[in-house]
Amino acid sequence: MDDFPTYPSGLRLADRRVVVVGGGHVAQRRVPQLIAAGAEVHVVAPEVTPAIEGLVGSGEVTWHERGFADTDLDEAWYCIAATDLPEVNERVSRAAEERRVFCVRADDATRATAWTPATGRHDGITVAVLGNREPQRSARIRDEIVEQMREGVLAARRQRRRTPGVVLVGGGPGDPELISVAGRKALMDADVVVADRLAPRELLGDLPADVELVDVAKLPRGRSAQQEEINRVIVDRALAGKRVVRFKGGDNFVFGRGYEEVIACREAGVPVTVVPGLTSPVSVPAVAGIPVTHRGVAHEFTVISGHLPPGHPDSLTEWSAVARLRGTLVLMMAVQNAPLIAEALLAGGRAPTTPVAVVCDGTMPGERTVLSTLATLAVDLEAEQVKPPAIIVVGDVVAVAHPERFGAVPSTEEGD
Ligand code: SAH
Repeated sequence: MDDFPTYPSGLRLADRRVVVVGGGHVAQRRVPQLIAAGAEVHVVAPEVTPAIEGLVGSGEVTWHERGFADTDLDEAWYCIAATDLPEVNERVSRAAEERRVFCVRADDATRATAWTPATGRHDGITVAVLGNREPQRSARIRDEIVEQMREGVLAARRQRRRTPGVVLVGGGPGDPELISVAGRKALMDADVVVADRLAPRELLGDLPADVELVDVAKLPRGRSAQQEEINRVIVDRALAGKRVVRFKGGDNFVFGRGYEEVIACREAGVPVTVVPGLTSPVSVPAVAGIPVTHRGVAHEFTVISGHLPPGHPDSLTEWSAVARLRGTLVLMMAVQNAPLIAEALLAGGRAPTTPVAVVCDGTMPGERTVLSTLATLAVDLEAEQVKPPAIIVVGDVVAVAHPERFGAVPSTEEGD
């Protein structure tokens, strides 16, 4: 019997009872996939890991807090024996066999009636690899197949989905690796890509040759004329039946005018969806080694656009209130107005010694960090010839990251 190959099958488990016996790490690995398949998951175990407990708390699985009883399998379609006690797994196997329920064995594949393949998904295709009891080899083969599908090496290309509409895709701070999987997929599925200056350029090189690339930097100048033209282009192309990706740096809704595009699409009856991106005020400091919060140092971080100077009639920022905040300030589009902003913060009561880090071209090959203080920011920006794009981080988190320059920062919280 052992010599026969397995018979592969894709189980459709939605709303069907699946029993997992055991609440340890094997169970923890299997349960989320069962939930994703829509199964009605019952975990039978005297104890479960905190992760499983979390799923119980959120109502995604039912936990029977006790040992296994044969009758647990009465209504089951499928079961997984995942305890670390072989004799319990054996009992589960036997009870399953009696009830003609397929049963996976975590401890002994030869005693199982079903095997869990190494699985991966790409573009609507599930890859399932069943090795001959060599799980690591199966996982490696799975990884290779999925990777090659992603890269287009494996001819997984299919008729491009022709559902027209607009997808707003956030490309992340600049490093092409920092786009999301969903973002990259939307990009590769597009007929038209409307890209900004700050969108990760390298990713555009991977686009299939027949994709129309609209470079926003080449559209008419002036902030509102340009935005109107973008709205017109994305709506027109979508109405003509194309899949349009509006591709921006960071996240489209963080100083990205993304919602104006959502409104324009809605008004024209064009379906529009959003793929969020890693936004630069958080990710650029992170990659530069600066946390925007730190326990006992900053309990808030505030992201502010500096494109208008303090006191400008159109400014919506109350700088005197900002100055009184104790947490981290992250200033964007602020290189030009930084001297006036520093002045406003000092006038509002922030200490002249407040640490400042200016991260230029974050996550990109030319990334550099200029350290300064509120009192010396204007001089340092000038001396270091800082040019946009840059993120300016103000507050003690900068000192936490750079004690060699600013000294150690005392924490207000003790213990853990
Ligand atoms: N939507 C973008 C922000 C657009 S506003 C996002 O979510 O990140 C443009 C400003 O973002 C720039 O002036 C700069 O302050 C900041 N910025 C974006 N990418 C950056 C990068 N790679 N390095 C430093 N600053 C960056």
